[in-house]
Amino acid sequence: MKAVLLRYLRHPRLGALKEAGFFIRGLLFLGRRYQCPCCGWTVRAFAAERSILRESETGYCPRCNAKARHRRIWLFLKQNTELFSKEVRLLEVAPWWAFARRFRSIRNICYVGLDLQRTGPHVTTLGDAIALPLRAGSLDAAICVHVLEHIEEDRQAIAELYRVLKPGGWSIITVPLQLDRPTHEDPDVRDPIERARVFGEPGHVRLYGTDFIDRIRESGFDVTLDLADCVSADLRRRYGLRDDENIFYCRKPL
Ligand SMILES: [Zn+2]
Repeated sequence: MKAVLLRYLRHPRLGALKEAGFFIRGLLFLGRRYQCPCCGWTVRAFAAERSILRESETGYCPRCNAKARHRRIWLFLKQNTELFSKEVRLLEVAPWWAFARRFRSIRNICYVGLDLQRTGPHVTTLGDAIALPLRAGSLDAAICVHVLEHIEEDRQAIAELYRVLKPGGWSIITVPLQLDRPTHEDPDVRDPIERARVFGEPGHVRLYGTDFIDRIRESGFDVTLDLADCVSADLRRRYGLRDDENIFYCRKPL
């Protein structure tokens, strides 16, 4: 029943209904304490998962449904990239509605939202992350947020990001990351319940660790890790950020 309902809610034609729902939730949460950098709204609280009215300090933006990770990435993009000022062809792998609606509204961004299925208007291209249906060197930037931990051939997906970027292009990659141990993966763990126990979620195939940066570098990227605690405590409170959202900024050499 829940799966049927979710499929219904993801129907491409329900974009306007979803937009109206988030707008009403945004009104209910209006306030001054927090701000969402993705949509700009100020709210009294963020919303808890699977709830309309329950509050959470680091939950979903009531207005645009951005998670803490999206707010963190938006701030990073603003501070560290020219995404909002130059003509950019941007790929988002497995697009998130909050990101997609904003990126698509920005004139200088040519947005490509790639997913396996057409789950909404934000999916512009159907395809697989391990075989991107895009020409080599055709993109300026790519965003891949909490996707690789779901993909068995993650090295292939990283190599594909590298292939489709122009020299000098960049990619933002984020994954669940443990900073005190190496990556744990075990192809024999296939049962969803067991995967949730070992890797954190039923759909995850590994739990990344300290060596993940080397795995990205294998493709040829120059990689910088921007740790969550690089953001000041004041900003983290204001934007409802978590302390475990680390960003890998990956640049394809010129
Ligand atoms: Zn928002």
